[in-house]
Amino acid sequence: MLTFNADFEDGEIPRVSPDSAPSTRTLLQPFSKAIDMKIAAFLLQGIPTVGLVSTDETTVQPYALSPEDALRGALPIVEALARGDALPPLQAAVQLTNVQLTAPIPRPRRNIFCVGKNYFAHAKEFASSGFDSSAVAGGDVPSVPIIFTKVPESVVGPSDFIEMPVDVSEAIDYEAELAVVIGVGGKGIKAADALKHVWGYTIVNDVTSRDWQNRHLQWHMGKSFDTFCPMGPWLVSADECDGTDTAVRCFVNGELRQDARTTDLIFDIPTLIETLSAGITLYPGDLIATGTPVGVGIGFKPPKYLKAGDVVRVEIDGIGHIENPVR
Ligand code: MG
Repeated sequence: MLTFNADFEDGEIPRVSPDSAPSTRTLLQPFSKAIDMKIAAFLLQGIPTVGLVSTDETTVQPYALSPEDALRGALPIVEALARGDALPPLQAAVQLTNVQLTAPIPRPRRNIFCVGKNYFAHAKEFASSGFDSSAVAGGDVPSVPIIFTKVPESVVGPSDFIEMPVDVSEAIDYEAELAVVIGVGGKGIKAADALKHVWGYTIVNDVTSRDWQNRHLQWHMGKSFDTFCPMGPWLVSADECDGTDTAVRCFVNGELRQDARTTDLIFDIPTLIETLSAGITLYPGDLIATGTPVGVGIGFKPPKYLKAGDVVRVEIDGIGHIENPVR
């Protein structure tokens, strides 16, 4: 019998006891229709709050959460839905213009899973950039998903500053990406069942230090600098947004740099979930950034790196946009 306990302490990764090997079948509970929703985390008069955004995106109704849970953003809501629990009561709506949005999951419980070189045209531009330590002759398109992670502390909100790492790197790049939000967790999830484990989606900018990514022969450090994971503006449930077929765009100072559809992913979302969950149990609220399309700064000759004063806007149809100034 599986004992899956999502009532863990803040910051602690839930454990499944060894005598209760995770099973997709026993973890999986169908979501109710009631999850057609956008969940935002925000400061309301300076107080961390989590709420349900109205359909017209003008107001938000706070959930009655404890201060501790409110600090975890949308995570307690996704966890409650995954358990099949009732959600906390909603309170009086407030105007979205009167709140300051933070990242919907301001401090993910563990690293954000990310996928490298997952759009054909981007795989080619990156392999030919001279900065791809994973490239081999003729091997610019990967045969299996390339997975790396970003530390939770790299996350900032949808309009927060991206801080240039002065004296550390000047080769700073943007990467517009759709991020998958896991709902019901599991291990050994098959691709055919994978979308049942997707609670919804959000937007991330997988900001990257290209020289660190190349020089250190791994991608973790150059992807995890402070402020290098802008996220938001909220989580959108899978019935609101079909992440398997939506448009991803990135603008730098108003110039369209990236413009693609998620149907162009080399490894689609079900394949990514099957790959990740083969040996790693996935938990509610886990985030998978699905990769970036062609048009990153390193793809230009000469490269168009980010610099202080730039503004990076990432849009995904069905979710919204994030817009982060660089300083
Ligand atoms: Mg990326």
